[in-house]
Amino acid sequence: MAKKKKKAIKLQCSECKKINYFTNKTKNIEGKIELSKFCNECRKHTIHKEMRK
Ligand SMILES: [Zn+2]
Repeated sequence: MAKKKKKAIKLQCSECKKINYFTNKTKNIEGKIELSKFCNECRKHTIHKEMRK
């Protein structure tokens, strides 16, 4: 029973710094993720960046 670790990536709005989305990182993605997504806080589409510890 080997459990695979799923890396949950937090996507943080670059404007209000609120974490709005979660995603799982795949092997295909290199570097930092930047996605344009709708932010409820800003009420518009903003760049959401991957948040790492
Ligand atoms: Zn925002």
